[in-house]
Amino acid sequence: MTALPEAYFRAEVLEVRSLSSVMRRIVLGGAGLAGYQSSGMPDEWFRLMVPPERQRHVELPIKHGQQFHFANPQPSPRWYSLRRWDPEHCQVTVDVVVHEHGAATRWAETVEPGDELLISQPHGRGIDTTADWMLILADQTGIPAACRILENLSPQQYAHAIFEAPNEEATFRPTSPAQLKVCWAYNPSPATIPSPLSAAVRTIELPPGRGYVWMAGEAACARDVRRYFRHELKWRSPQFDIVGYWRPNQDAYQRRYREVESQVAEVYANGRRTGLPDDDILDEVYSVMESRGL
Ligand SMILES: Cc1cc2nc3c(=O)[nH]c(=O)nc-3n(C[C@H](O)[C@H](O)[C@H](O)COP(=O)(O)OP(=O)(O)OC[C@H]3O[C@@H](n4cnc5c(N)ncnc54)[C@H](O)[C@@H]3O)c2cc1C
Repeated sequence: MTALPEAYFRAEVLEVRSLSSVMRRIVLGGAGLAGYQSSGMPDEWFRLMVPPERQRHVELPIKHGQQFHFANPQPSPRWYSLRRWDPEHCQVTVDVVVHEHGAATRWAETVEPGDELLISQPHGRGIDTTADWMLILADQTGIPAACRILENLSPQQYAHAIFEAPNEEATFRPTSPAQLKVCWAYNPSPATIPSPLSAAVRTIELPPGRGYVWMAGEAACARDVRRYFRHELKWRSPQFDIVGYWRPNQDAYQRRYREVESQVAEVYANGRRTGLPDDDILDEVYSVMESRGL
């Protein structure tokens, strides 16, 4: 994500519970979160600094200029959505998908009340609430932000949510004041089986009027859904916010991405210099990446 954190806070784990076989809910609080503030955007996210294993207490980083220096051994940064912000008690709720392996996954599986960690101040992009209807697509990683978006709609709004889950036991009815239709698409192994969301979105009949699409999920699926709205249906920003939250085999992808990194940076720099709209720049970036099989 683009915005880099401007402040870090020490949080204490207050509560841990399983929402399903793949989702752990962790509530953070403690005196260190006094002064923590929401961006006010329902899609906001923050950096969760996963502490090294078995480290129960953490030190705040020292800031030199724009750089934060963390005590050794270093924590591992991961992005997470702020599922719920309770300003009265200064508490942050985060819902973490547990998958095969990863620092945050391991942390979510083993963390206990009383453990500490560092979290960054959150940032959000915001969503378009003026459309006649909304389509919200999310895999398990996007569901926390999607649920918060749905909770923040008004009774006059109409929303259709398509969520991905490993199985029926992991489904639930999201809370929303809006007129809400919810469908589920199943995928028992998101790391090895492509997300069903891009096929699901093509089967629904879009309502009349001006629509808005918000999506967060696996990166290849997100790119395909963006392609559908932008190139097949000819929608234009700000009618969609479609973001890849993760991808399988991240290390292998990073190695291959390094081969095109400078070319991608050039596309961004040229686009910005010549005033190209962000979506046109992204189209060019994707075509560079796709020319290398990425
Ligand atoms: C803005 C933003 C908000 C996000 N919000 C949330 C959120 O609220 N809840 C949430 O659970 N995730 C969220 N994510 C996704 C999360 O940051 C990634 O899934 C992250 O990589 C998980 O870290 P890890 O340490 O468990 O795995 P990593 O160490 O990052 O990765 C280890 C391996 O697992 C793979 N992997 C990573 N994520 C998954 C996955 N979900 N399923 C299967 N394989 C995976 C990687 O490709 C890699 O091969 C968000 C991402 C962004 C950008």
